[in-house]
Amino acid sequence: MIITSLAQDELMKEYKVVVLGSGGVGKSALTLRYVQGLFLTRYNPTVEDFYRHHTRLDEEEVTVEILDTAGTEQYSSMHQLYIDHGQAFVLVYAIDNKQSFRDVEPLLNQILDMKKTRNYPIIVVGNKSDLEDLREVDREQAERTTKDLWLVPHIQTSAKEDYNVTEMFRRVLRMINSYQNKQQA
Ligand code: GDP
Ligand code: MG
Repeated sequence: MIITSLAQDELMKEYKVVVLGSGGVGKSALTLRYVQGLFLTRYNPTVEDFYRHHTRLDEEEVTVEILDTAGTEQYSSMHQLYIDHGQAFVLVYAIDNKQSFRDVEPLLNQILDMKKTRNYPIIVVGNKSDLEDLREVDREQAERTTKDLWLVPHIQTSAKEDYNVTEMFRRVLRMINSYQNKQQA
């Protein structure tokens, strides 16, 4: 039984997704919401975790590996390992924290530099959309900056209210597919 399921596991297409962003923006909450359907209220900024998640994508069973990173140790060797490892990057900020949006651009540049391209499967995520009253990041401005200047998609999510979380991760998986198809073409 175990051998059979392991063999199947190995045959499944695998997607490697890395979640990056400032501390406290909801990287772990988004990951846990997607993988386990839970919302985490306590906050441990130091925890870094790796998840394997099975799901169906366009009629196919696939495995999603998610690296939920901690800290913002930019340009560290740890960071370089994450970036090396990833096939797609979820760059998270929180809509109630302006600085967390400012922290996105250097991350984006670091990824593009390391991948030696101007185009990679990357999405910018404005999390905590439920905290509209505390908003510090203008939605339209964030969307324009992301799409027109950084040339990557932008989406708003709430890990708390389970808004757009699965949609966001599915979109990322499709971005990996289309990127790989383009590389092969
Ligand atoms: P991380 O450091 O980026 O991994 O952030 P966490 O996932 O640990 O979340 C930091 C804090 O923000 C925790 O107290 C979470 O409960 C809270 N949080 C995360 N996502 C949301 C969200 O969508 N809405 C609200 N209101 N709080 C959130
Ligand atoms: Mg975390």
